Amino acid sequence: MDYISTRGAAPALDFAGATLAGLASDGGLYVPRAWPRFSADEIAAMAGLPYAELAQKIMQPFVGDCLTPERLLELTRGAYGRFAHAAVTPLKQLDEQQWLLELFHGPTLAFKDVALQLLGLLFEEFLARGSQNLTIVGATSGDTGSAAIDAVAGRAKVDIFMLHPRGRVSDVQRRQMTTVIAPNVYNIAIEGSFDDAQAMVKRMFNDSAMTDRFAIGAVNSINWARLMAQIVYYFAAALELGAPHRKVAFAVPTGNFGDVFAGYVAAQMGLPIERLIVATNVNDILHRALTTGDYSQGIVTPTAAPSMDIQVSSNFERLLFDLGGRDGAALAGQMRAFEANRAMQLTNAQRANLQAGGAAALFSSARADADDMLMAIRWAYVETGEVIDPHTAIGLHAARTSGLDKEIPVVTLATAHPAKFPDAVEQATGIRPNLPTRVGDLFEREERFADLPGDYAAVADYIAARATPKV
Ligand SMILES: *Cc1c(COP(=O)(O)O)cnc(C)c1O
Repeated sequence: MDYISTRGAAPALDFAGATLAGLASDGGLYVPRAWPRFSADEIAAMAGLPYAELAQKIMQPFVGDCLTPERLLELTRGAYGRFAHAAVTPLKQLDEQQWLLELFHGPTLAFKDVALQLLGLLFEEFLARGSQNLTIVGATSGDTGSAAIDAVAGRAKVDIFMLHPRGRVSDVQRRQMTTVIAPNVYNIAIEGSFDDAQAMVKRMFNDSAMTDRFAIGAVNSINWARLMAQIVYYFAAALELGAPHRKVAFAVPTGNFGDVFAGYVAAQMGLPIERLIVATNVNDILHRALTTGDYSQGIVTPTAAPSMDIQVSSNFERLLFDLGGRDGAALAGQMRAFEANRAMQLTNAQRANLQAGGAAALFSSARADADDMLMAIRWAYVETGEVIDPHTAIGLHAARTSGLDKEIPVVTLATAHPAKFPDAVEQATGIRPNLPTRVGDLFEREERFADLPGDYAAVADYIAARATPKV
């Protein structure tokens, strides 16, 4: 399998190349040249496999010759062996229709671990084959940073520089990043929002003063390997609920559109998905884009679900590429206009494909405000005894208001452990969830991070002074 850029002007790469490159050199995102497809019989034969084996089967077509099936299985076993639940992503029933898929049993308590534990091993594997050093530069709204740092701390030939918006991540999230003291880990608090931090990271990928000296890599969901790893749990949950003989819907708490795009890929691969419900908080650019075609950036409003406080959803570009007939040159023009004007309209073709035909009304969307979120936490606790986090609650609100036929099971992706966001949970339920023992003495450990202004040159200078050159 080779990988092409959504903007049509970067060289095609194999899986290892796309994993190490992150963003394409033309500013686009790498996608597989074609979606692999499984038949219904092949899907049925996957039922009951242990998670690491299912992961190998789903991912092998994307990995191609870059890893043998035996090696890929070793890596998936290594990545998922660190999860605190034997099922890795256990499914829980809430009522006759509603289910929760718990994705937070990894080391840093959010679903980001599912992809990043594997990505850390993939980096190590592919870097060991050459002489190159990798400089990972990422921006985080909270959970990617801790999961990425846990996955690469202390590994050879890789440095990680993680930017977080100062004061806009929770204490648990910040400490999970800043208390990891390893020689290859650098945390940077910057002034501004997550979108400001992400814009700096994207700029660095296209800054030849940096890319000439450093091999800049990505751990954000612009990295294809992350999305690939997330496809697996859509299959796992659907198989458990009767796929391929029964259709399942998913409600996905959404920020950067990575998680829900993985669901879209699962559908392209043949998994019968009835609906993907894109759940947003009041930062609702995606809800507006999917309902009216207006993709225009608003001001980011900080909420109790900070990992979704995003107004530019990088992975939406991957969907637009497919919906627009995979025309890289046209999409490059559209994205350049968006970057200049902070707004664009979906084309007629994109809108038509969203509503009918291929993506046949696969997507719907819903927006939850602070009250909707608190009510969903309260409903889950009072009616089912489950304590859920604010992000999951936004998904559950969307699931419960979807209007889907009662026969269709609706699976809400539970993206974070409630103890990561204890204030909102306590407000809704009166219960302050405890951190699981696997995170240890987080609040006693020393924190280390740099404070920088929201200024690209300051960040680039800081990184250039500390990163290891590519060769
Ligand atoms: C990252 C994150 C999201 C949003 O996922 P995207 O892939 O960016 O859409 C939702 N919930 C939590 C807890 C997250 O960490």
